[in-house]
Amino acid sequence: MGKVSEVREKLKKYVAPNYAPLPFVPYWANGEWIRAFVESADGTDKQVRILDLHSNYSASNLGHNHPDIVTLKIRRFANSRPALISRAAGMFEEVADFSEKISQLCGIEMGLPKNSGVEGFEVAVKICRRWGYEVKGIKEDKAEIIVAINNFHGRTLAAIAASTNEESRAGFGPFGPKRAFVKIHFGDIKALEKAITPNTAAFIVEPIQAEAGVIIPPDGYLLEARRICRKNNVQFVLDEVQTGLGRTGKLFAWQHEGEEARPDGMIFGKALGGGTNVISLFISSKEVMELLRLGTEGSTFGGNPEACAVALLALELLSDPILLENVSTLGEEFMQALRAIESPYIKEVRGRGLLVAVELTEEAGGAKHIWEELFKEGILAVKRENAIGFSPPLIIARDTLLVH
Ligand code: PLP
Repeated sequence: MGKVSEVREKLKKYVAPNYAPLPFVPYWANGEWIRAFVESADGTDKQVRILDLHSNYSASNLGHNHPDIVTLKIRRFANSRPALISRAAGMFEEVADFSEKISQLCGIEMGLPKNSGVEGFEVAVKICRRWGYEVKGIKEDKAEIIVAINNFHGRTLAAIAASTNEESRAGFGPFGPKRAFVKIHFGDIKALEKAITPNTAAFIVEPIQAEAGVIIPPDGYLLEARRICRKNNVQFVLDEVQTGLGRTGKLFAWQHEGEEARPDGMIFGKALGGGTNVISLFISSKEVMELLRLGTEGSTFGGNPEACAVALLALELLSDPILLENVSTLGEEFMQALRAIESPYIKEVRGRGLLVAVELTEEAGGAKHIWEELFKEGILAVKRENAIGFSPPLIIARDTLLVH
């Protein structure tokens, strides 16, 4: 039995079937390239090279095994330096340095590191509720969080309570009171104004809805949302888990609307881990974050020294103005090249920076088979609802992306 069929059999037997991956078994990855085993027509394995235009939903913004990140991990942690001692037990300079850096980059005072993106969302919900009760004066258990229809904040109970995707929710309820998460149309500023009540603690929204198919709100939406939240004493929180850290050509996606759009809080994950580690963060003002008094939050792995050291380096690499400028220009060129393709299957090409989606026509017959066809051509893309997503590593060579 070949490697591919062996792995497929074991996955089928021992792993819950929540994903339907493409039939490849990777054994090497560097930059924008992956080498993997796939099956030949006769059932034996062959080795292929795959161009990664997926980047693990933007977790690999720096590409696979970025040399500086790998060097840091080997030099600093492949010896006796503690990679994992609880933050509850000891004080780590990596945590201090990373937290200082991200606070300076965001212009926001205080963060709480966690692990996955959805944990960042959970903390944002918890702390905004607490702020609602203790500072705004909302009555116990009445706090409301406004979210957008077609959002994606992850898969925990709070995230799916906030979700409008029936596939993610079905069979997992109950989700608590209906008004715990008030759902409004994305990009509709009037809907936001209407949804706010004296019980509204926060509006939590993605600057661009990546998972929904790279949906970009109307120009000025975030700026106006910022203004409305401030006027109504509501926390304005942006989920930058997928859009953040260079993906759209700015360090943060809200920066496309200027400094005035700066939110009260931001959620990060994915690329913060440099493509090798797992770390997320919720960052907000000192007033809000200090409501997390001793013993009220925690995480065994969240913000461990190695993850923080990697995150600090990832931030340094991803905030490089030359890299960000390149993401913008390459993204524009890439979208122009996609728009130049004459195909009855392409309805629209949209995106910002290197977060791109090609929406398909009905004639295309769904995204799945196009995603599979691209893979046969050696391209790993993102399968979205009725669109094919392209989010290459931000370090991708221009010629590789445009000529390939
Ligand atoms: N928020 C956004 C905007 C995301 O795109 C994702 C994941 O795709 C998440 C949160 C959840 O992140 P994680 O899968 O690391 O929990």
